Amino acid sequence: MSIRVYRNAAIHTGAGGTPPAQAMAVDGETLLAVGTEAEVREAAGPGAELIDLDGAAVLPGFYDAHIHTAQYAQSLGAVDLRDVRSLDEALAMVAAHAARLRPGAWLFGGRWNSNTWDPPAQPDRYALDSVCPDLPVALPSVDGHTVWANSAALRLAGIDAGTPDPVGGEIVRDASGEPTGILREAASYPLRDLMVSPDLRDLLRAAQEELLALGLTSVHDIDGEDCRAAYLELRDAGELKLRVHKAIPMVHLEAAIAEGRRTGQGDDWFRTGPVKIFSDGALGSHTCHMSESFAGEYGNTGIAVTPYEELVALFSRAAGAGIAVATHAIGDRANHLVINAYEAVGPTPGLRHRIEHAQHLRPGDLARMARLGIVASMQPVHCTSDIDLVDHLLAGHELASYAWRGMLNVGVALAFGSDAPVEHPNPFAALYAAVTRTRTDGTPAGGWQPEQRLSMAEAVTAHTLGAAYAAGEEERKGVLAPGRLADFIAVDTDPYLESPEAVLRTKVLTTVVGGEVRRRRI
Ligand SMILES: [Zn+2]
Repeated sequence: MSIRVYRNAAIHTGAGGTPPAQAMAVDGETLLAVGTEAEVREAAGPGAELIDLDGAAVLPGFYDAHIHTAQYAQSLGAVDLRDVRSLDEALAMVAAHAARLRPGAWLFGGRWNSNTWDPPAQPDRYALDSVCPDLPVALPSVDGHTVWANSAALRLAGIDAGTPDPVGGEIVRDASGEPTGILREAASYPLRDLMVSPDLRDLLRAAQEELLALGLTSVHDIDGEDCRAAYLELRDAGELKLRVHKAIPMVHLEAAIAEGRRTGQGDDWFRTGPVKIFSDGALGSHTCHMSESFAGEYGNTGIAVTPYEELVALFSRAAGAGIAVATHAIGDRANHLVINAYEAVGPTPGLRHRIEHAQHLRPGDLARMARLGIVASMQPVHCTSDIDLVDHLLAGHELASYAWRGMLNVGVALAFGSDAPVEHPNPFAALYAAVTRTRTDGTPAGGWQPEQRLSMAEAVTAHTLGAAYAAGEEERKGVLAPGRLADFIAVDTDPYLESPEAVLRTKVLTTVVGGEVRRRRI
């Protein structure tokens, strides 16, 4: 391939402290030179193809360290109940959606939050049956930890009055013992295994276009083995346009070990990631594992989805087989136990373990994370979405919550992502949340716990190089320098010159992955 020179740009290389470069030469998939236009054209030699970026600001491509791309892809064509304000409104949307589906198809969607409904009552399966009696429906709540299913879905999953509650989950029942259709945590797993899209490859092909348009060039995917298979098919067909670091679901750990899968295996387009393990639930479902009761719910300290001894056994089993571990932990007790478990397993050279979300920690645990080299994989928009919930449910707890500043101060490596489809995958929304700690309407003024805010440079780094570090790819991605992958974006708003409010509205003009323009705004 001939050499290309991308020129006429303010290139923030991510190398820290250096003034913006003007041009970059790309040879194949990698950067050949980065610097002034004269330096770069000299390095590129005569005959290089010139591509003008019209004076735009350029950044390393964003890397989402925690995204469910299969679920996100499904959500693009699914019913979205996030802004619904009553049960009737939710049912009307489900009914309209069901009318468009083929017989036997799953109705995908969810993101409901009955706490915000008028009246705020938990829904049941009979309500769903009234608008969708035949198609199976199972709708995860906004935090994904509670599922609202209809009778057809429960029948398919074999869940009835005689089904015992699984370890780490609850089948909510009425006075006569019949399931109401509300399934918490592990109780919903049998349904999730059934909810497979027949056309995931097509959905992912469409979803990657959306992600590229948002400025994402790499993802750590947290979804299942069907998603892995679909990505491998896309790659083999030459249709994969963004780079994938693919996690292994906990239930597939043994199968992955048996086939010799190891973290880091693969190439720059598709690499095996860590095994994903759950240690607790989530705040919105009152299932994150806390040291003290939720305010107003004496005795309820959440759910330990995986008991401590099992965490230790899983961690050592995975690490012994060369597989890094990424553990979901939201509550302070969950985070404490996960850190203890990593400590108990001891050093595992070459493997970077992580905590996913790391939302509420005992203040003393931040330094332990740093000392043990545990990466904090966090999602800034979760913080601003959760402000009211934290103020209400965790009032009086002594916690370091969404403590990005505290983590950087003690040396914890931060990797940012979105957890889409829980939140929108727009990385500029993450930058805005990280530097302001306000909602997009500017509240609360001055930011929530503003001492934990980051600078724009720190936020950009966590969403680019930080995510690459979590994947062991910091020598390939996240910095625009000779020898690194030519993954970058040109944007209409320079985040280092403009206000956070302007950065939030950034439009990505051009997305380049592996030296090729994969998406251009028209
Ligand atoms: Zn997630």
